[in-house]
Amino acid sequence: MRALTFLAHRFVAGDDISDAIDAVRELNADGLKVTLDNLGEDSHDKEHALAAAEENLTMLRRIAESGVDANISLKLSQLGMGFDDGLARDSLLRIVAEAERLKNFVRIDMEGSKFTQKTLDLFYALHDAHPGVGIVLQASLRRTEGDCRDAVARKVRVRLCKGAYKEPAEAAYPDKKDVDANYDRCAAILAGAPIPAMATHDDARIEAALKAFDAAGLVKADYELQMLYGIRGKRARELRALGHAVRIYVPYGTHWFPYFYRRIRERKENLLFIARNFFE
Ligand SMILES: Cc1cc2nc3c(=O)[nH]c(=O)nc-3n(C[C@H](O)[C@H](O)[C@H](O)COP(=O)(O)OP(=O)(O)OC[C@H]3O[C@@H](n4cnc5c(N)ncnc54)[C@H](O)[C@@H]3O)c2cc1C
Repeated sequence: MRALTFLAHRFVAGDDISDAIDAVRELNADGLKVTLDNLGEDSHDKEHALAAAEENLTMLRRIAESGVDANISLKLSQLGMGFDDGLARDSLLRIVAEAERLKNFVRIDMEGSKFTQKTLDLFYALHDAHPGVGIVLQASLRRTEGDCRDAVARKVRVRLCKGAYKEPAEAAYPDKKDVDANYDRCAAILAGAPIPAMATHDDARIEAALKAFDAAGLVKADYELQMLYGIRGKRARELRALGHAVRIYVPYGTHWFPYFYRRIRERKENLLFIARNFFE
């Protein structure tokens, strides 16, 4: 944990894959599954995009060698989407093929709305031939209810989150209560998709999703609850103790600032936490 400053330490597992595997081991010991993410987004040149692809391959291999319970999450802009979509597609294919070989799973994170359609197009282009890949949909976007229906029709594994990006009102609901209502609607729709993953720290959303899943006849093995590393860890363990499958999103790496900034923006109390640590 060399470059990582104390600021990001609460939300980021460390600088490199070895730090990350240590964090996975601790979470696994508490019965929590993990999805590992090598931090980075918006690669602007081929060299960085290819290095990111290599790191994802390394992650898959280290997970297999160490025997931990983890899959991986990645961002297509880190693989070059935006400046060379073909490069991003080729790298994604290599990563998904390696995940298949190792019997693992790749989740494509969803980024800002300028990437939504491109991300879904690339995902669907390879999904039918490679079922070991899943997508993320964001309840903040107006389009998402329709995207959830498509996902059910095409038997796609979806992680549902609220959405972490600042979006224009044409694309997204400006009001939090509309985002929450859309989250509940989308969760109920996704009860029809394979292993829906509810990614939220919001108890009311979790409760609504569990109610919808129960009404649809799902049992605990049919879905996952997901949370971010460093946020509501106690609640994650309580949910696990109730028998739910809980997966923690564990980011690592030195390009932590944009991720860290989104976490701070989401919650003012985090600024106080940082200020307190700074002065201590
Ligand atoms: C596993 C996982 C994967 C995700 N993947 C994506 C993705 O691919 N694309 C994307 O756009 N977004 C992603 N997100 C982020 C998500 O969109 C939200 O920005 C984030 O989860 C906060 O929303 P919330 O659902 O927790 O609800 P909120 O209404 O924001 O929060 C509910 C409660 O959770 C707690 N909480 C929430 N955020 C914080 C925080 N930062 N610090 C401390 N406490 C907090 C608080 O108690 C808060 O009252 C992911 C989230 C998770 C859990």
